Amino acid sequence: MRRIIKWTLVSFAVGYLLLLVHLLMVRKLRTAVIMGLQTAPIPLQPVVKRPVDYHQDYPELFPLQVAVLMINDSDGGLGYVHAFREMGIPFFVTHDLDAALRHSLVFIYPEVDSQTFNSEEIQKITQFVQAGGTIFAQQVFATALGPLFGFRSYEQVKSRHWVNFDTSTDPLGKYLDRPEERRIPLAGEAVKESFATNGYTSDGTAKVLARFEDGSAALLEKPAGQGTLFLSGVGYDDVIMRAQCNRHYDAFRAYVNTFEPGGDVWLLLLRAWYENFARGAVRLATIPQGQRSVLMLSHDIDWSYSVPKCLTFAAMEQRHHVHSTFFMQTKYVSDANGRGFFIGPNLDVLRKLVALGFDVESHTVIHSRAFNHFSYGTGDETYTNYRPRAVSMTDAVNGNVLGEVRVSKELLDGAIPGHHTIFFRAGHLRFPTPLSDVLASCSYEFDSSFTAPDVMSNFPYRLTYDRDFEHESPIYEFPVTFEDEEAPPLVERIGKALEVIKANADNGAANVILIHTNDDEKKVPAEEALLNSLPPDILVSDMTDFAQFWRARDRLNWQVLPGGSPDKITMKIKSAEPVSGLTFEFARNISAVDGGAKILADHHRVILPDLQPGKDTIIAIRY
Ligand SMILES: [Zn+2]
Repeated sequence: MRRIIKWTLVSFAVGYLLLLVHLLMVRKLRTAVIMGLQTAPIPLQPVVKRPVDYHQDYPELFPLQVAVLMINDSDGGLGYVHAFREMGIPFFVTHDLDAALRHSLVFIYPEVDSQTFNSEEIQKITQFVQAGGTIFAQQVFATALGPLFGFRSYEQVKSRHWVNFDTSTDPLGKYLDRPEERRIPLAGEAVKESFATNGYTSDGTAKVLARFEDGSAALLEKPAGQGTLFLSGVGYDDVIMRAQCNRHYDAFRAYVNTFEPGGDVWLLLLRAWYENFARGAVRLATIPQGQRSVLMLSHDIDWSYSVPKCLTFAAMEQRHHVHSTFFMQTKYVSDANGRGFFIGPNLDVLRKLVALGFDVESHTVIHSRAFNHFSYGTGDETYTNYRPRAVSMTDAVNGNVLGEVRVSKELLDGAIPGHHTIFFRAGHLRFPTPLSDVLASCSYEFDSSFTAPDVMSNFPYRLTYDRDFEHESPIYEFPVTFEDEEAPPLVERIGKALEVIKANADNGAANVILIHTNDDEKKVPAEEALLNSLPPDILVSDMTDFAQFWRARDRLNWQVLPGGSPDKITMKIKSAEPVSGLTFEFARNISAVDGGAKILADHHRVILPDLQPGKDTIIAIRY
């Protein structure tokens, strides 16, 4: 008995001592800061938030442009701007009905009520459609216009959740060929009230292309004379901007690793509308070099052991002649989440990756789960004074958005000579509302902190400031499609990932994969299996290369001008930045091009020569 008591006491004493040592060590670790790191100065740039000037930014230039008849400018309009730009459809914006009706496709925005048009204007629209023009309108609230658009009545409510398309026999449904595209969410089932939609009852002259779950029509098609009118009961800002700004009403069906085209469908409808109704349609393709889709490769580096393993991923990717982006945590403090590891040999690995042609970008300082709740910051944050610290798995102290964004760039640019960090990915993909503002002020250019299913968009897009619907930031978003941490392991999910990639390729959309470099034994073969089974028309790229292409494409100035005879056109193209592989698609068969452009085998696509910034490129095209 006495022996037992003695041993119990000894055990307690040893346990107590161990606990004391542990607590002291943790305390030491928690206050440890890696000192003496090189930094590069990151001056803060002023951020100008101006609302879009639709009329100045999108002027009338050539007949093939879709005319956007903007009834009023007060209700935003970025929804259709993003739709047309992402789809590569030329458009201009006007208040002038006569100017709009000189073009064969007219998109009316944001809504039409009984005051919008007088009887003379309704007469003009009717004649325009009778003569072969096409109208795409949304949210028509005027029973008097029912005969024009083909509805008898309408009901506006905020409680609808689903749109079901029945477009299998209609040209507008050309890209809606998968179940996820034919039934799309507006709001989560549990959400009682979201945004207003208009459900129509056809008067029998209009075909119903889509219905809400209450049976009312969400999309009508009314043939009239030689022309057609389409009427959507859903507003484009509600389905595109809400999704892209991640302000939707829990509409997404899954968070990651799945095909969620809930926002893209609205873009694809406009693409099909333009391709079907614009005579001699010319569209700027989404993917370079005539490819059908892209797989952007990215890796997140979240602790010290993951750093040397980056080289195994890089070596495998080099064997496949591809590159990837490594998002590096610049953790120089030790805290509840672990020890700092932005240190000596790890920095050598980063420099080696860059020397091998790989892309190294920012993955914050402390990678906090609380990042989306961090404050903006003061502007004084630098490596010498910024001391954020995780205090638990979910909480942190002294952190702010500017500190995470700016100091991580100071350190990466300081550690890698000549480097400019321009891409950002938040830890745990947490997106604070002022992120695009802070990124812009620290001279970043691109972000990848959302998942594609969450923003219901598989196309990259331009972020707004403060996640609003009015002020465009210069930052472009490349949402994550696939990640490697969900069960089952990535290697068992290659088939499913390929299905998503194929679904995106059918739409010309993009894919981003995120693979952590913590386990090279399992994850390198998984990534390699995916690369080995990719169809040949899927481009593989690091994030920055494709992002720079996408931005140049999004800002491209291009015009289709008459070429002196009906079988000739001239294209005038100007890019603000150097860009390679821009591809145009033509409804008509192309027989010859000049100016260093290249016709693809299908005779419907042309790859442009490399463009020099600010220089006009003129290409003559013969049908
Ligand atoms: Zn991470």
